[in-house]
Amino acid sequence: MAGKDGYMAARILQGQQSVFKGIEDRLKAQAAEYQKASDSVVSELATLYARFAKDGALSSSDLAQVGRLTSLDAALKEATKELGVASEAATRATLAAVAADTQVALGKSLGVEFGGLAKDRIDKILDYPWSGKNYSDRIWDNTDALAQGVKETMLRGMVTGDSFTEMAGKVASKFDSGYRDAERLVRTEGMFVINQTQNDMYKELGVEELQFIATDDGETCDECADLDQTLYAIGDEEPLPIHPNCRCTYAPPLPVEEPVAELTPEEVQAQEEADAAAAEVRAIAEAQEPDITRDVVGLFGSQGGEMEGLDYRLKEEGSLSDKILREAKDNGISRTEAASQVKDAVRYTGILPEGDFTSGFEAIRAEMEAKGYSMSDFRNSLKDTDVPYRGINTNFVTSGGYKFEMQFHTRDSFDIKEFFNHDMYKDFQNPATPQSVQRAILAEMKATANRIPTPRGVERLVQ
Ligand SMILES: [Zn+2]
Repeated sequence: MAGKDGYMAARILQGQQSVFKGIEDRLKAQAAEYQKASDSVVSELATLYARFAKDGALSSSDLAQVGRLTSLDAALKEATKELGVASEAATRATLAAVAADTQVALGKSLGVEFGGLAKDRIDKILDYPWSGKNYSDRIWDNTDALAQGVKETMLRGMVTGDSFTEMAGKVASKFDSGYRDAERLVRTEGMFVINQTQNDMYKELGVEELQFIATDDGETCDECADLDQTLYAIGDEEPLPIHPNCRCTYAPPLPVEEPVAELTPEEVQAQEEADAAAAEVRAIAEAQEPDITRDVVGLFGSQGGEMEGLDYRLKEEGSLSDKILREAKDNGISRTEAASQVKDAVRYTGILPEGDFTSGFEAIRAEMEAKGYSMSDFRNSLKDTDVPYRGINTNFVTSGGYKFEMQFHTRDSFDIKEFFNHDMYKDFQNPATPQSVQRAILAEMKATANRIPTPRGVERLVQ
């Protein structure tokens, strides 16, 4: 779960993309403003063509003589100024909404609740000239350039003797491309606001380092690929976006795999001993498993249940070896001792229908006991709320004294464990995960587990 494939980074990117999509809807209002400006200039041209055209064309010197060239220029300036004012207001509203949406989306991704977004914080982000200029400067640059471009188009059209239709078409297409510039501007500024807001939130959470996450979903950003996963002390990061249409972002650093260190001779020996012990544990498990599997599968079936991950009922030798090594070290016991304590070399997960869960569990337990098994360990967290994991975990012992594991789940408790909380739990456990993020993950896992409906009567299931 390291690097940009990490669950957390994926959630952050997903949240960011949904905020970004919201920008598109708000752009429509601006399209109307550009249309209005274009229409007013074209209508002024129509008046001039009607009154002053000779052979269907306008002459700039004729217009200048009657003072109408300056009035055309003034009408154009007026239209683009109104456009600039409207565009600035619409853009500011869009960007402020982007900041607020980002806060909500990031809170959801991290499983934390941020307080309301202070207006002065939004203002600070919006007014920051992040690459020399802020959004407002850029809008005015764009509308000035648009006014200049339309003016040149009209003068050139008069020189080449354009008809009204030709001239109107050229002016309208200038305004169209002006609108496309405005779209690009809002998207680029939007990405800046998204990233800046996220970084502020990270700072608030006490995150100290940020990791560059390049998007590699087939769109752009080849040029950012080299920066992928680069770490920055918070505050030293490159402002994003790096280029137009850049969809990259920052996330709190994800746990990175430790490099494999050279083993000392003692460690090599310990590894060999653990491997040998694991091979033995596995051999015993393979011998015991077929009879137990037949009983367990039959019993779950008789209660309308089904098995999950039955193919993985035998723990892999590698996992066994890791576990033996770890337990021996953590508990200061021999590796043989640790091997003898393994109780999940054979393990089952069964799903029972939620409506009949409690009676199903009781029936299976009674049948197991009738067949000579006894329950040695029992933990019921399915009855609990505000816990990150919910299910019933048990160990049973065969009449011959072989211990194995059985987990009982509802469909919901299994799915939440397997598909939602599993990856988060890995990030949570990793010591490299910042504490603030760990807290956020824990809160999210609890919130998710709280969504599992509690089967009726499950609290009466005890050891
Ligand atoms: Zn990029």
